[in-house]
Amino acid sequence: MTDKASPLIVWFRQDLRLADNPALHAAHASGEPILPIFILDDENAGDWKIGGASRVFLHHALYTLNKDLGGTLQLFKGKAQDIIQTLVTDTNAKGVYWNRCYEPWRIKRDKEIKSWLDDNNITGQSHNGSLLWEPWKITKDDGTPYKVFTPYYKRGCLSAEEPREPLPKPTNMIFSDYKSNLSLADLDLLPTRNWGDEIIQNWDISETGANKRLNDFLDSGLSNYKEGRNHPADGYTSRLAAYLRHGLISPNTAWYAAKQRGTIEGWEKDRDHFLSELGWREFSYSLLYYFPTITWENLNQKFNNFPWSDKNSEDLRRWQRGQTGYPIVDAGMRELYQTGYMHNRVRMIVGSFLVKNLLIHWHKGEEWFWDCLFDADLASNSASWQWIAGCGADAAPYFRIFNPLLQSKKFDGDGAYIRKYVPELAKLDSTHIHAPWEAPPMILAEAGVKLGETYPEPIVDHPAARDRALEAFQSTKQEDAA
Ligand SMILES: Cc1cc2nc3c(=O)[nH]c(=O)nc-3n(C[C@H](O)[C@H](O)[C@H](O)COP(=O)(O)OP(=O)(O)OC[C@H]3O[C@@H](n4cnc5c(N)ncnc54)[C@H](O)[C@@H]3O)c2cc1C
Repeated sequence: MTDKASPLIVWFRQDLRLADNPALHAAHASGEPILPIFILDDENAGDWKIGGASRVFLHHALYTLNKDLGGTLQLFKGKAQDIIQTLVTDTNAKGVYWNRCYEPWRIKRDKEIKSWLDDNNITGQSHNGSLLWEPWKITKDDGTPYKVFTPYYKRGCLSAEEPREPLPKPTNMIFSDYKSNLSLADLDLLPTRNWGDEIIQNWDISETGANKRLNDFLDSGLSNYKEGRNHPADGYTSRLAAYLRHGLISPNTAWYAAKQRGTIEGWEKDRDHFLSELGWREFSYSLLYYFPTITWENLNQKFNNFPWSDKNSEDLRRWQRGQTGYPIVDAGMRELYQTGYMHNRVRMIVGSFLVKNLLIHWHKGEEWFWDCLFDADLASNSASWQWIAGCGADAAPYFRIFNPLLQSKKFDGDGAYIRKYVPELAKLDSTHIHAPWEAPPMILAEAGVKLGETYPEPIVDHPAARDRALEAFQSTKQEDAA
């Protein structure tokens, strides 16, 4: 149903859903006609405008959100401050409602919009639609932010007020009849290459798809999550990250659904572990909120003199394309490029390989992930890359260097994950698939592998690279002594 009266604008951002959407819920409860909008604001985003894979995800998420809204979602492109001002004036809107975002550029922009609305006596209402706990609610007793996860989660989150319970999907909404003149195609979110079509295979990018994903995980992943989550071939993780990032499902929905299902006897430790992973997401947002420069500056400044290697564009290219000669690393990088997702265990292995084995700056990894992940998220991506590099929050007291071989044998023992993404090694047995360069020539020949031809020789020798990384790490200690 549509209405010509002055509307309330509901500005969808990273909350592309109808259920448990506090801004939409509040606008609906007011009884006023709703004007649902989305703005692609690359201008304010600057260097952090959303990456290629996220754009593909966003395109499909907007398509299905519009369908769920009965075709009433209005699209805009440009600087949000200007668009909101024009729209409010043109429609005589009574207010603008949105769910908060926490990226530094968004906070700055939203404050400007709020202040313009206040100056013009128009309601600007913001809600919490994407975090379980607002960052400013979880601090140490002295009001300073946590920098270590366990006390943040246990002393902070778990002893704070329980997260808000999910809100229902609004029914019988009345919409404004205002129309923007942009179509989804005008947002130009899809790449010209076929890549966009290929990576969406196996993803149902809709609110319904997100809920189905959650339910499938509760049915078949949660009961063995704590241990199973480490094995990339086994499918015990939820794969909810992209849905959470774009807000096709809320963390509150996932939190309460897992809590409820996790009451089954024997599932408690798995449930608690899953909830704590949602806690890691909250922790990343807290870090971004209190330390907004973590997107680019080392949180631990002792790393400012770290001697990153700068003559390695070929190594970087081979890492990006999954051609390092380390099968587990290559499998992960190919999974990322082909599906917009990479398993968490493998993210840690490939991340460590880039910054420790190749000594390439974590910025390069952060940028590649930003472009290739469906779940590319400024908070989680920055915090995780800093953690991997050793300069972030909660970094272990020692300089952690993952051994790609041991990790591969431990977490992909039978090589199923490698076989899936590095098919040229598929015929190698599970003893040799982790390190083909150690396989006898006959075994390689039988499996049809020609090192340097069908599959690369390793680009670095791990023990030598490890020594080089440890030596480089000394630079951070010299800072200490100075
Ligand atoms: C180098 C690196 C970069 C990363 N970049 C991102 C990113 O851009 N976006 C992103 O959402 N996650 C990122 N992560 C964290 C983590 O790898 C993913 O959240 C997880 O793999 C997503 O898969 P899942 O949904 O199946 O996770 P599950 O294991 O099912 O976990 C459930 C949810 O908890 C959250 N979560 C789990 N682990 C973490 C974590 N370590 N940090 C923050 N949140 C977590 C996610 O929202 C996830 O969907 C990164 C990790 C590393 C090591």
